[in-house]
Amino acid sequence: MADESPLTPPDPTDPYQREAQTFPTLTDDMVERIGAFGMHEALPAGSMLYSRGDRGVDFFVVLDGEVEVFDETESGEHRVVHVHGANEFTGELDLFNNRRILVSARALHDARVIRVKRADFRRLVAVEADIGEIFMRAFILRRVGLIRHAQGAVTLVGPGHGGDTLRIQRFLTRNGYPHLLLDTERDPDAKGFLNCFELSLDQLPVVVLGDDTVLRNPTNAQVADALGLTEDLDPNVIYDLAVIGAGPGGLAAAVYGASEGLATIVFESLAPGGQAGTSSKIENYLGFPTGISGQALAGRAQVQAQKFGARLAISRAIVGVDCAVRPFRLELDDGRTVRARAIVIASGARYRTLDVENFARFEGQGIHYAATAMEANLCVRQEVAVVGGGNSAGQAAMFLSRAVQHVYMLVRGPSLAATMSDYLVQRIHASPRITLLTHTEIVGLEGERTLEHVTWTQRVNGEQTRKPIANVFAMLGAQPNTDWLKSCIELDDKGFIVTADAHPNESRWSPSPYAASVEGIFAIGDVRAGSVKRVASAVGEGSVVIQAIHQYLSAH
Ligand SMILES: Cc1cc2nc3c(=O)[nH]c(=O)nc-3n(C[C@H](O)[C@H](O)[C@H](O)COP(=O)(O)OP(=O)(O)OC[C@H]3O[C@@H](n4cnc5c(N)ncnc54)[C@H](O)[C@@H]3O)c2cc1C
Repeated sequence: MADESPLTPPDPTDPYQREAQTFPTLTDDMVERIGAFGMHEALPAGSMLYSRGDRGVDFFVVLDGEVEVFDETESGEHRVVHVHGANEFTGELDLFNNRRILVSARALHDARVIRVKRADFRRLVAVEADIGEIFMRAFILRRVGLIRHAQGAVTLVGPGHGGDTLRIQRFLTRNGYPHLLLDTERDPDAKGFLNCFELSLDQLPVVVLGDDTVLRNPTNAQVADALGLTEDLDPNVIYDLAVIGAGPGGLAAAVYGASEGLATIVFESLAPGGQAGTSSKIENYLGFPTGISGQALAGRAQVQAQKFGARLAISRAIVGVDCAVRPFRLELDDGRTVRARAIVIASGARYRTLDVENFARFEGQGIHYAATAMEANLCVRQEVAVVGGGNSAGQAAMFLSRAVQHVYMLVRGPSLAATMSDYLVQRIHASPRITLLTHTEIVGLEGERTLEHVTWTQRVNGEQTRKPIANVFAMLGAQPNTDWLKSCIELDDKGFIVTADAHPNESRWSPSPYAASVEGIFAIGDVRAGSVKRVASAVGEGSVVIQAIHQYLSAH
C-alpha cells in the first residue's frame, strides 16, 4: 500500500483508504457461485499470475494463501499495491478491455485460487449482478488509487508549460492512465534524469515507460500504442454497429447497442468523453445534483459500454467511409479498414479559434480550450482571460475564479443574457473575482516562448488595454468534425450532418429522425444539424438511435 506513515492523517477521499470497498472480502456463498464460472488452481509460492504489460489477463479469487499485487518503479523499487487474502479478488478496469495491464501479481505463499477466463468473467458479471456490482465499484476505486498514487505509472519528462508536455499529459489524464510529471522547469532531479538517459532539452518532452523505453516527443497515437491503450483489432470481424466518436453521444450508443446484443465497436481519435470530457463540472445532467466532472462521467460510461462487450479503439481516427459497399468499409488513420453493417456518427464538434496573430503559436502554451483542475493549477494566483459568452465560457469563468487571482471575461456582444443560462449570468455578475467586459475582443497576444501579455480593445470607444496575462481560455463554441466524411453524406452549409429530422415530409428519408442521407448511417449529438448541443441530448439521441438500427439491420 502506498505511503501510509502513522503521521499521515487518513484522507477520506483516498480510494485505498476505503479498504472495505476497494479490496472487499466476498462471502463464502459468493465465492462458491464464482466457482461455477472458473476452475480451481494450486499456485506454488512465487509463481506469477500475470505481469505488467500482459494483455487479456484472467480474473482470480483467492481461496487460501496470499496473492501480492505489485509495481516496479524505474529505479527498480518494488512497491506493493495490495496483498489479497482469502475470499479477495484481483483485477481492475483493464479486465473489461484488452489493454495492457498496469501491475503484476504473484503468489506470496502457496496459494489456491479460482481462475476465471475473460469470456467467462463477462458472463459472471452479467449473471451474478450483486457480485458484479462489488467488482465494478472495487475496480473503479482501484484505478483511481493507481492514478492518485502514480502506481503502474509512466514518467513524462518535459517543461510543465510546454505545449507538447501539456498535450501528452492531457492525453494520459483523459485516458485515465497513471503518470508522473518530471517538470524540467521546476524539478531539481530533472537534470540528473536527463543526463542518465542522455537526453538534450530539444528532445523533450519524453515519455519513459516501465521497461526504460524512451519515446521522444511522441504523437498521441505513438503513446497509445506503446502503452497498449489501443486494443488489437481483428480484421476479419464484421461488426453490427460502428460508432464514430466516444463523446457522451457515442458512449450512449455503445452502451445501448452492446447491451441489446449488437456487436459494437467505437472509434475515438483522442479520449473518451469528447467535449464533455474537458468540462470541470457538469451541473445540469440528470441525477447528479452536486455536478459531475465530464471525465468522471465519461470514465463510468466507458466501463459500462465495455461491461456489455463493446470494443473501444482509442486513439484511432476514422478518416473515410465507403458508403457504396455493404457492409460499410471504414478507413482508419493507420491505413487499416473495418467493416460494419450500420454506422452511428457521433464525432461531435471542435473548438473555434480567435482570428488574432500568434494564436496558433500559443495554443497549449497559454491558450486553452478547457478549464479543468489541470489548467487551473497552471494559473494559481494569476489573472486570466476567458473569451466567449456561452455556457461553457460561464462555467469556465466560475470554476477558474475559485483558483486564480482574477478572471476577465471578454465578450463581443452587449451582454451575456442572450447566450448564457440565467443561473450562470447571475453568478458571474455576483462574483467579485470576475470582471465582465462587453463589446471587447482580443487584438494582441505576445510572449517569448509562452504567452505573457494580452491586449484587448473595447469596440465602442476604441480603448486598448494590455495586461500581463499568461493564460487565455477560448470558449467560443464549436464547428463539426465532418471533414473526414468528404462527399459521402449530406451536410448543411456549416458542415453539420443533415438527418431525417430536417425533412419530416419527405418519404425517401428513413422514419428515424437520426437517419443520414445514406441508408444505414445515422448521426447523433453535436455533429447533427439542428441538435441541442448538450450532454443529456447527445446521450438521449445515442440511446434512442439503437432502436432504428435494430429495424434497419432486421430489414437488411
Ligand atoms: C468546456 C465545455 C463544457 C460543457 N459543459 C456542458 C454542460 O455543463 N452541460 C451540457 O449539457 N453540455 C455541456 N457542454 C456541451 C457538451 O459537452 C456537448 O454537447 C456534448 O459533449 C456533445 O456530445 P457528442 O457525443 O455529440 O460530441 P463530442 O462531445 O464532441 O464528442 C465527439 C467525439 O468524437 C471524436 N471524433 C471526432 N472525429 C472523429 C473521427 N474522425 N474518428 C474518431 N473519433 C472522432 C472526438 O475526439 C470526440 O471525442 C460543454 C462543452 C464544453 C466544450
